[in-house]
Amino acid sequence: MTAPDASLPTSRYFRLEQLGEGLFFAIATPGSGSMGNAGILDLGAETLIFDTMLTAAAARDLRAAAERLTGRAPRYVVNSHFHGDHTIGNIVFDDATIIATAPTAALLTNENDQFLRELREHGAELDAQARAEAAAASDPTVRRDIEEQSDDFAALAREAHTTRSRQPNITFESRLSIHGGRREAQLISWGGGHTTSDAVLYLPTERILFSGDLIFYRCHASITSGDPAEWLRILGEMARLDIATLAPGHGASASQVAIAEQRAYLEALLGLALQAVEAGKTAEEAAKTPIPAAYRDYGFASGFAQTIQALTTYQRARTDAAAEGARL
Ligand SMILES: [Zn+2]
Repeated sequence: MTAPDASLPTSRYFRLEQLGEGLFFAIATPGSGSMGNAGILDLGAETLIFDTMLTAAAARDLRAAAERLTGRAPRYVVNSHFHGDHTIGNIVFDDATIIATAPTAALLTNENDQFLRELREHGAELDAQARAEAAAASDPTVRRDIEEQSDDFAALAREAHTTRSRQPNITFESRLSIHGGRREAQLISWGGGHTTSDAVLYLPTERILFSGDLIFYRCHASITSGDPAEWLRILGEMARLDIATLAPGHGASASQVAIAEQRAYLEALLGLALQAVEAGKTAEEAAKTPIPAAYRDYGFASGFAQTIQALTTYQRARTDAAAEGARL
């Protein structure tokens, strides 16, 4: 991790951090319309962008920063997973080759097009609903978080009529290496945990990992489209990499310790969800569980309720399946 560098391009959408020579981490500014973190990597002869943020407006700034920092237009764009806050900005890189796993490529188009259609047709109602939910929240950190996310989606709604999803042109299964002359970027997918399919970018020489949303660093993790057991398995695989700097999908830059913290977080929430099932609570009731003291200062405070709800449904299904198995 390096100190803030005044010579780096500035943007209202993100803060840039230099991780190494020609390697930059763009950390999303909450509520600005960027939402997900991104990377700018100078591979030597080519420039690569890792994830493209939520809006075309934010992605345009990301592209401008990449052009200024590396002296050329990005040649490659990698999407870590299908979620819109990492992929909708693809539209700004229409002259680049976009790379993702095959399941991510398939999901990306469907999910983003559906989400953009929903925003075009019901954006105002969805915004009003979220603002009412924010006003009703008793926890001020939850309230601020819902407001910031509403601001992010409002920024996307403003461009929902002109933007569309842009699909990857190259897909891979588990590994793909890009040799850029100066350095090698390894794309790795161990399957899906946060979503059906998640990929990371690893720079073995520099020992830097861009993890996508497999790591929410000191932020509440979203698991609504994933599998917690697979996520834990994948974190075990990730922990075998030699990592000096970890650039997460959400939150600030970290070290290898972020992997153990993500594991502990998921295990703690799975434990809380199991307690809720054993106490006979519904998933909706479990969602009212207070945020544990250890995670009170985590970002995305409103995500805790959604995650505990999803994990309670997951633990209920596992408990039911075990009981069914015992009867057979
Ligand atoms: Zn995500």
